[in-house]
Order: sequence, then C-alpha cells, then structure tokens
Amino acid sequence: MSDVDKKVDSLMTILKENGYKYTDKRRLMIQVLVEEDRYINAKYISEILWKDYPGLSFDTIYRNLSTYVDLGILEMTEINGERFFKVSCIDTDHHHHHHICLKCGKAKIIHIDLCSKLDIEELKGYKVDSHKFEIYGLCPNCLKEEKENV
Ligand SMILES: [Zn+2]
Ligand SMILES: [Zn+2]
Ligand SMILES: [Zn+2]
Repeated sequence: MSDVDKKVDSLMTILKENGYKYTDKRRLMIQVLVEEDRYINAKYISEILWKDYPGLSFDTIYRNLSTYVDLGILEMTEINGERFFKVSCIDTDHHHHHHICLKCGKAKIIHIDLCSKLDIEELKGYKVDSHKFEIYGLCPNCLKEEKENV
C-alpha cells in the first residue's frame, strides 16, 4: 500500500469516526488533497472531481471541504479573499507555522516558536485563546522560475 493510500485511509477513518458515510466521492476528494499536498482552492479540486463525477455540485464539494476543516482533517487559509485548503499536518503534533507560497501553494513548516512572546504588555487584561500567524511569499522553486522568466 502506498503512503498516499495509507494517509487517505487514516483520514477516511477520522471521517467515519465522526459519523460521515464512506463514499467514493469523499475518498477521491481526500485523495486529491493528499496527493497535491499544498494549498489548493475549491475550483481546482472540483475540476478534478468533475472528471469522474460530472454531476457533483460545487456547493456540495465546498460544504465537504468546510466540514473537513471543522474536523481538523484540512487546514484552510484565505488569500486575497479566496479560501485555499490543504491536508492538515497531522504528523506534526507540535504547534507550528507556515510559509505559504502564493504561486504554487506549498506550505513550509516553520518549527521555531514565533509566538512564545504573546505575554506582552499590550495584552494585559486580555485572555488569549489562539492566534494565527502565516507568512506569505514565494517558495525557492517559484522564486527561481520568476527570476528566469524576467
Ligand atoms: Zn501545518
Ligand atoms: Zn511555490
Ligand atoms: Zn504560534
């Protein structure tokens, strides 16, 4: 069994444990996200799914993606008002951040604790539950392409 299949299986198990029916459509959707392993939008996912399931509505696909985010299977980020999805870094339990490439959607994990200093004067009297910190730009590959195409 390939690593992709193993990963897809483990994510389908999470779906099942949360009461979601196993369907081939759901499996394919998860498989696309595992194979891509970068931030992609709902349109990109839909176009792949429509090759096998032309009748599947965009709303259904979008609703499923939102559900998977709620379940922690997917991570979501918003770039220029559009939502992008990627499989969660479940293998890394540690709190971490990403550099997200605005061109290819690749997310590089940053393990350095960039946010251990939230105990700051300006937040005195406030309770901090969570925070979001993402770095956007270009990955080395896209940067190289960009330079070559000038
Ligand atoms: Zn991550
Ligand atoms: Zn890139
Ligand atoms: Zn943090």
